[in-house]
Amino acid sequence: YQTLRLILGDQLNARHSWFQTKDETVLYLIAELHQETGYVTHHIQKVCAFFAAMQAFAGALQRAGHQVCHLTLDETKEDNDLPDLLLRLIRQHNISTFEFQRPDEYRLYDQLHTFAGELSQLGITCREYDSEHFLLPFSDIADAFPQGKSVLMEHFYRRMRKRFNILMDGDRPIGGKWNYDQQNRQSLKPRDIEAIPTPMVFHNPVTEILARLQRHQVRTIGTCGDTLLWPVNRRQAKQLLTHFCEAGLPFFGRFQDAMTEQSPHAWSLYHSRLSFAMNTKMLHPMQVIRAALEAFEANNAIDIAQAEGFVRQILGWREFVRGIYWGNMPGYKTQNALNAQRKLPDFFWTGNTRMACLRAAIRQSLDFAYAHHIQRLMVTGNFCLLAGIEPDEVDNWYLGIYVDAIEWVEMPNTRGMTQFADNGIVATKPYAASGNYINKMSDHCKNCHYDVKTKTDKNACPLNSLYWYFLERHQSRLTRNPRVGMIYRSWDNRSEDERQAILRHAEHLLANLDAL
Ligand code: FAD
Repeated sequence: YQTLRLILGDQLNARHSWFQTKDETVLYLIAELHQETGYVTHHIQKVCAFFAAMQAFAGALQRAGHQVCHLTLDETKEDNDLPDLLLRLIRQHNISTFEFQRPDEYRLYDQLHTFAGELSQLGITCREYDSEHFLLPFSDIADAFPQGKSVLMEHFYRRMRKRFNILMDGDRPIGGKWNYDQQNRQSLKPRDIEAIPTPMVFHNPVTEILARLQRHQVRTIGTCGDTLLWPVNRRQAKQLLTHFCEAGLPFFGRFQDAMTEQSPHAWSLYHSRLSFAMNTKMLHPMQVIRAALEAFEANNAIDIAQAEGFVRQILGWREFVRGIYWGNMPGYKTQNALNAQRKLPDFFWTGNTRMACLRAAIRQSLDFAYAHHIQRLMVTGNFCLLAGIEPDEVDNWYLGIYVDAIEWVEMPNTRGMTQFADNGIVATKPYAASGNYINKMSDHCKNCHYDVKTKTDKNACPLNSLYWYFLERHQSRLTRNPRVGMIYRSWDNRSEDERQAILRHAEHLLANLDAL
């Protein structure tokens, strides 16, 4: 071979221009690595899903006539890290050119750029390619997302709608509005709960991978059966997309923020669960958007509010957080604007808490390596924000537990959107909420040990006093924020005694978080 081309675990993009031609002098490398299983403690389903998808991709490339070297942990156990392995193969095959796609994660970007510099010194040619996945070109990021500046997602999204002519009628948005959130975001009534569709799951065998993880003592969290429910190849990913367009899209926006404990299908609800397939690049974002738009055209049961709501997540949010990440890394990773210092309570690793909302979201995450957006943002995320958990602790939990967690998308959502640690680059105000919000959007409070209606009783919902404690603690920073200022007036209207009682109760809870 003359050329070694590296394919990372999240670069399973069969449409990449690399694969348009066959070349016997090119060797493709897909490798399971200790450095990737160990940079954070991952959910076992996440590791299985990545390894199974990598294996399937290697097989597909081989069948298409490419030369592929697929290595498992058994074969890379002696290599210290990725550069070590690459150097070994470059020597072994007398390679003269090393090529890679630009990693989406800063950690790997940095590692490969340093390595490429060293290789050049050895006279080996290095070439970097685009991953040909995202809609916003990488070269546009610096302009669109200036470092340290807050960029409004809504403005970015509108520009993307125009740029790609999605749901547009000339210059105007189809239906006359850019955003239908007002109509969306309803809670579930009993008859809605009965109608929640059965989620499409796959039964991918993973016993060999599980044995490998055990053999190499890979530390993981969560559980996994003998089969994996996540899609691990393009065919399955497309099946899930089709299923979503039929069963999920008609109610996607309407119940986007709803939560219930009353259905075995509640973990998936009307969400697409396409994030893993997209983040590994098995599916292209435009392919997903087009499929949703075709379903919208063909199916009268899907109204504009659902279609627009879904498009916004992908054309808007997904591209937006990637821009924030690359516009602000590496500094973003250390931001802690609210100076949060507490340790993550142990129940995040077990789900053993009496708070029903947290228990449901955490147990579901441990069972499925998945929670939907509102569970991540308004249940676990909101709790960490109010409790002042150190952002590294929060990031590591999110980065480990979700099947779709890759730093470029995880970190702006966690550190930025939920923890406000970036001082408002992602969110114009902290997403802080008391128990009232959870009660409005879910049925968790009905059978909870804690009482959502009280603030200072022994069994008062902890979110209620923590919410005011949080606002009080950050008053000087937040009171100037026009979107929060109003809330302070309602705080100031309370008697001094009441305020003190709420703050004391919160302090007691904060000193005993593990006991919640
Ligand atoms: P759906 O609800 O069906 O939405 C469709 C698609 O839109 C998703 O697949 C995703 O690609 C995209 N999308 C929606 N919201 C966002 C968003 N805020 N940011 C980026 N893309 C979005 N998403 C990840 O892919 N990986 C993560 O590690 C991740 N970590 C998160 C951490 C926190 C604290 C929060 C609040 C959100 C996080 N998200 C993450 C965003 C979002 O919650 C998930 O993309 C979504 O829940 C995945 O499930 P789904 O495919 O069923 O999404």
